[in-house]
Amino acid sequence: MNPMKSHYQTTIDKPVIFVGVGLHSGEVAIMKLKPTTNTRGIVFRRMDIAPKRREILARWYNVSDTTLSTTLTNDSGISVATVEHLMAALYGCGIDNVIVEIDGPEVPILDGSAKDFVINIEQAGIRFLQKERSVILLQRKVEVQDGDKLATFSPCLSQKFSADLSFPGTAIGQQSFTFDRSRSDFKKQIANARTFGFAEQIEQLKAAGLAQGGTLKNAILVDKQQIINKEKLRFDTEFARHKVLDAMGDLALSGYPIVAEYSSYKSGHDLNHKLLSKLMHNQRNWRLITYTEYADLVGPHYAPSAEIDEKENIPDKIHKKAG
Ligand SMILES: [Zn+2]
Repeated sequence: MNPMKSHYQTTIDKPVIFVGVGLHSGEVAIMKLKPTTNTRGIVFRRMDIAPKRREILARWYNVSDTTLSTTLTNDSGISVATVEHLMAALYGCGIDNVIVEIDGPEVPILDGSAKDFVINIEQAGIRFLQKERSVILLQRKVEVQDGDKLATFSPCLSQKFSADLSFPGTAIGQQSFTFDRSRSDFKKQIANARTFGFAEQIEQLKAAGLAQGGTLKNAILVDKQQIINKEKLRFDTEFARHKVLDAMGDLALSGYPIVAEYSSYKSGHDLNHKLLSKLMHNQRNWRLITYTEYADLVGPHYAPSAEIDEKENIPDKIHKKAG
């Protein structure tokens, strides 16, 4: 069964271990993903902290910092940083519940993408649980703006993510990418898009205690029109795809798949968090429905197994239903 289209919640079938440096802290952490039958969602456990204080639920209301990455903090003040790529990998693989044991303050950055998370999660396999999955169905448009930056949820019966970027005068330039989670392959299209940074900001970031673990092995470094890495870009639109990856991870902090179209212009973790908070704070913005209700709503048009063109629109009938 396709875990993304499962009516039942999932966990991984076997534990998976990752070891690596944190992008911002520069600290090495051992991180173990463990199966769980408890359907609380994604739960981090700081293994270097006393048991009573170590648990951090991966939810939007625990977001404490969004400077260049997303940090979660529990009521005891215990944090875990840079959760977004792991959250995106779990969401992209259709994993609802997992325990993430970690012995340090930051999720390993690995190669700057979600590629290794996805490969290892797939190898671990997926276990279906005896509890039905629910989804958030968007009821009306929700938007946040910060200067010329914009992030929006629009009603749609799919789970779509679009990112538009504009860095004029750099190797990034203007680029955009749209991904439909229900119809396209997360592993092929999004998971291996790496994070990126600008050479001119490196000194400033390091002085501010950020990017301490950053190297050309875990980030694309852009120096005006040049890309410093020897490795070629993995896609022409790798930057926009990475923004989609980040958004999927940040929005997975709702705790449910969100049935809506997310679109952003120059967005980042901060705006993603503001958008999700605005959505969740007003109960009139959304409705929690079971996956069975969702499947009934979209009907047979919404079960294509083959990958389709990323830019292709969903059928008119579904648009009409959504409107
Ligand atoms: Zn990222």
